[in-house]
Formats: sequence, C-alpha cells, structure tokens
Amino acid sequence: MLREVNLRADMVRKGTHGRKVVRPMKPRYITIHSTQNYSADASRHALALKRGALRSPKRKNGNRIGYLIWHFTVDDKEAIQHMPTSEQGEHADFGGPGNRLSIGIEMCEERGSNLRTTIERTAKLTAVLMKKKNIPLKNVVPHYHWPRRGKTPANKNCPHFLMDNGKPGRKWKWFQSRVNYYYQRLE
Ligand SMILES: [Zn+2]
Repeated sequence: MLREVNLRADMVRKGTHGRKVVRPMKPRYITIHSTQNYSADASRHALALKRGALRSPKRKNGNRIGYLIWHFTVDDKEAIQHMPTSEQGEHADFGGPGNRLSIGIEMCEERGSNLRTTIERTAKLTAVLMKKKNIPLKNVVPHYHWPRRGKTPANKNCPHFLMDNGKPGRKWKWFQSRVNYYYQRLE
C-alpha cells in the first residue's frame, strides 16, 4: 500500500526553520488538515517549508517557534514527508496536545487537482501510519478536534471539505470509513 501512497521524503533540514528546535514526540494521534491553498501542490509546499517561507508570529500561548510545519503533505500524485514523526510539528493548537502528540497531514486542494484522489491517498497514508505507530481509528481526528486557545472560532473548519456546516458529520464519517477500509487491507 505504501507504493500506492507514492511517498517520498523531502525533509526540512534539521536545525532550520520549523525544525530549528527539535521537540521529541511519541505520536498518539493523526491530525488531518487541508491547505486552503488553491495554487500549490505537495512539492510546492515542501519547497516553501524548506525555505522557511511559512512563518507565523511567535507569541505566548500561540505559535511556539515562529514557523508552521507538519509531517506530510498529500496531493493527487504523491505524498511528501517534511519531518520525522518522532518530532513535534506546529500545525494544530499551539502548545496543545494536537501539536504535542499528533502527526500532521495536510491535503492539497490546488485548482485542477483531483480532490477525490488526494483524499484516497491520504486515507491510505493514514492507515499505514496507524499500523506503524499503533494508533487506533478513534485517534484519527480532523484539525477541528483541537481547540486553539484565543482563536474565534476555537475549533477550525479544517479540513473544510470533510466537515458538514463547519464540524465533523457525515463527510468525516465517510473519510473514517475509507481509512478503516485501507487499514483492514493491511491486516
Ligand atoms: Zn488545519
């Protein structure tokens, strides 16, 4: 199945940008996002992360490092890993458990791409990671799951195309069923 995921590593260099400070992690969750960037595929995101272009103001109780970073980006052609799953990203809820304990996966939605293919590839990658890290399906969550202190709304409508009226519902249940389908195929 990993072959179907078409995963490659294009890591942000250790000690730079989002990996300036290495914060160890033992992942217990997988957090699913969408980029809401309609002009960039996975390789463009990898380039931006490596260049340190995705900055976010560092503030008390907010972003901890001044950069955004996550573990994997998926588009309709491939999946790219940006950092080891043994390190914390900065993609969910500042100093909360979403960042401290979860692997972050971003789905691309650039114009002209096949979103369904991206979603299926994401479900496959998620299943592979569940198996490898011993993470149960109930711990596969949308970004929405993690409240962001000081933000309105606290719970982000993300990944927006898998939310119903801004929160998990029928579409999220469907995504969980796709993940489970691939997970069962691995056993
Ligand atoms: Zn998100």
